[in-house]
Amino acid sequence: MIDLRRYADREHLLLASYAMYSRETGGRLHDEQAHAYRGPFARDRDRILHSSAFRRLSGKMQVFTGEMGIYHRTRLTHTFEVASVARTMARVLRLNEDLTEALALVHDIGHPPFGHCGEDILSHCMNSVGGFSHNGFALVIVEQLEQRYAKFPGLNLSRETLAGQDVRAHKAEAAVGRSPMLEVQLVDAADSIAYDAHDVDDALQMGLLSIEELSELAVIRRALERTRGRHGLLPKAQLRQLLVHELIDLQVGDLLEQALEAVRPFEGQSTSSVSDAGLRLGHSEVIARERIELETFLFDAVYRHERLIPVRKAASDRLETLFNILVRDPSRMPLRFRQRAESHATQAVVGEYIAGMTDAFCDSQYRYAVESVSGPLADW
Ligand code: MG
Repeated sequence: MIDLRRYADREHLLLASYAMYSRETGGRLHDEQAHAYRGPFARDRDRILHSSAFRRLSGKMQVFTGEMGIYHRTRLTHTFEVASVARTMARVLRLNEDLTEALALVHDIGHPPFGHCGEDILSHCMNSVGGFSHNGFALVIVEQLEQRYAKFPGLNLSRETLAGQDVRAHKAEAAVGRSPMLEVQLVDAADSIAYDAHDVDDALQMGLLSIEELSELAVIRRALERTRGRHGLLPKAQLRQLLVHELIDLQVGDLLEQALEAVRPFEGQSTSSVSDAGLRLGHSEVIARERIELETFLFDAVYRHERLIPVRKAASDRLETLFNILVRDPSRMPLRFRQRAESHATQAVVGEYIAGMTDAFCDSQYRYAVESVSGPLADW
């Protein structure tokens, strides 16, 4: 008898053969009993959602800082947008939605404060210990730094969720040979679709860009045509929002069309045979080309916009100063980081401590560190 309250039965009914099934999980590093009604990946999703690193995403900027208004995305709202886009695609492709959602929620959890400039300066400061990567740091957080359970450090996530994040940390290796699970690939695609679209939205709303300037780009003209076809002429604010909606919708539609075609020969085969065959999901040639054009444009027109440069420079300087103070005097770190520094390189631990901070927390600790000569800073 099929019982839809049982996740194994639901997966049996709903998922394609090449999805990742909960029953095939490689388990967790520390054995745990199966949950009565949540599958392993649903538990992973919940563990990530309830982690303190996840909550701190609300205080981390994506591209724009808090001094620039309250409209734009933070890492938290970006993460939810990625999860939403990825789940939509997973459902159409009959992949494992729970795993997809867990992977989406964890994907940016390792970001340091102050967005990309925070990552750049931290990587520079940590040069002697191999630099800094937010994708790698996400694994340190979920495997070591989160404190939720008495018996082990970290969140004890399933091997597949960890492997999915590990793929992100080793993107170059994952681009050839055996391909990552389809669920991992979807999150990657959703991440890129979501940030391009919301950077357009945020930049337009802040007046860093105009729709006229953007209309130089083929993918924007495509989205504008669809918007006008559906709604006719619109006031600017409404046009912006519908344009962003169409921009996401047309890319998701394109990726799904390509993906449905690509997975068809694998009907009846398992997730590992798809990986063995090296199947990689992607956009159609036309949309892929137009996306590159959009990203190149955004890089110059938004990320290097003159209004952002001084804000970034000041944030980088504060972060670097704080880093140097703590490397000179590691005893100013909170207790658990001082203990960690006994078995890890000082630069690495100082980097981890700073990377876990929100933007505002980093600023407050910076002020305390430069205004007082001693005394430990606060733990997050
Ligand atoms: Mg992201």
